[in-house]
Amino acid sequence: MDDMKLTMDKIVNLCKSRGFVFPGSDIYGGFANTWDFGPVGVELKNNIKKAWWKRFVQEAPTSYGVDAAILMNPTVWDASGHTKSFSDPKMDCKCCKQRFRADNIIEDHSKGSVVPDTMTNEEMEQYIAEHKVKCPKCGGFDWTPIRQFKLMFETSRGTIEGEKDVVYLRPETCQGEYVNFLNVQRTSRAKVPFGIAQIGKSFRNEITPGNFLFRTIEFEQMEHQLFCKEEDSMNFYNEYKDKAWKFAHDIGLSEDHMRFHDHDKLAHYAKAACDIQYLFPIGWQELNGIHHRGVWDLSRHGEYSGKSMQYLDPVTNERYTPNVIEYSIGADRLTLAALCEAYEEQALEGGDVRVVLHFNPFIAPYKVAILPLQKNIADKAKEVYTNLSKYFMCDYDEAGSIGKRYRRQDEIGTPFCVTIDFDTLEDNTVTVRDRDTMEQVRIKIDELKAYIEDRIQF
Ligand code: ATP
Repeated sequence: MDDMKLTMDKIVNLCKSRGFVFPGSDIYGGFANTWDFGPVGVELKNNIKKAWWKRFVQEAPTSYGVDAAILMNPTVWDASGHTKSFSDPKMDCKCCKQRFRADNIIEDHSKGSVVPDTMTNEEMEQYIAEHKVKCPKCGGFDWTPIRQFKLMFETSRGTIEGEKDVVYLRPETCQGEYVNFLNVQRTSRAKVPFGIAQIGKSFRNEITPGNFLFRTIEFEQMEHQLFCKEEDSMNFYNEYKDKAWKFAHDIGLSEDHMRFHDHDKLAHYAKAACDIQYLFPIGWQELNGIHHRGVWDLSRHGEYSGKSMQYLDPVTNERYTPNVIEYSIGADRLTLAALCEAYEEQALEGGDVRVVLHFNPFIAPYKVAILPLQKNIADKAKEVYTNLSKYFMCDYDEAGSIGKRYRRQDEIGTPFCVTIDFDTLEDNTVTVRDRDTMEQVRIKIDELKAYIEDRIQF
């Protein structure tokens, strides 16, 4: 049925009404392309970050975590190449004054058959003129010339009145991993190959942000840099492609909705690069990137800082600059993919529709909801809630019919609902209802913790 089709609007509306995500600065009419995670959304995103950290740091004996400063010495961005070339080709529609990325317009117009990444600004202008590419917003055909638009947010730091230095909000987290390469290596006594991982905020002054959490001006990245010898680097590149795929799938994304997209055009220093794309309601789009960056990052930081970034192999005494394999994924973009994947509308008898989010239980905001059947047994229910909430995020709800309460939990993806009734007072048993099958089992209160724990592992 068409009205059961997943759309971004359905996800946005559910997120607003159930406390996943609110528009940023809402009471001031919002602030375009900023979003605030609400009580349910912050749990979901935190659990996704926890799952990533567990997989890529906790269970990876040769990977180490860092949490680097957002504001970095501005020379970092000269070394990385961002101050010179981190920009997108933009042009404005003179009719409706809307700003667009020229490469996106060409890609959409050609339905993906033209790859604008390889075109110069002049070639893009020529394509737009020859194919009479119209403004997607107003249909007009009156474009400004294409100009490069800087993507880094600038701010300033001034200690002396009148004197201010430009500093940047980082547009990616990985530079904090590169500049700490030797700090981590020495203090952890790490031997190449080893990895450095980080989760943190990045900022980009995107020209055409939008599509809810997909592209925002402030977002969180989860990035892992693997430092290795050149001869092992292609194997590691392929290994990280597999690991990235498996992680996205284990989070709950269906393999039918994922595909690899190899890059045709590579940065001059890169040896290989690909994305994993996900089938969002807006079509196939990048979910994460895996990049073979060669020795570019460490050698540039060596050059600009004047400090050697080379690694001394303690066994062979060989001194060399390791290659870097980068795996980078947006926590907000993955949260959006997880929401889209989990969303289902089920037609029930009588014309009713049940909305249910089938999250992997590990990432579900609440693991369990405690629901007393009557208010006068609330004391027992609260006791169960207090005990279980030492171990898991629990919700407690005594308002409304039990059917409506189940429905509310389905809509936020709670895998288990525990109902407390009069029998509970007699025999210390409760009913546990499964979100996906709606089946119910009766178990002892003492067994609840183990029952839930067994079913929420990642
Ligand atoms: P895109 O082509 O979508 O702009 P990108 O190739 O610039 O992405 P990277 O710089 O490789 O992206 O960043 C790594 C990951 O960070 C992306 O795969 C995506 O998950 C996330 N990401 C990048 N930009 C944004 C953004 N503006 N909003 C939300 N997430 C983002």
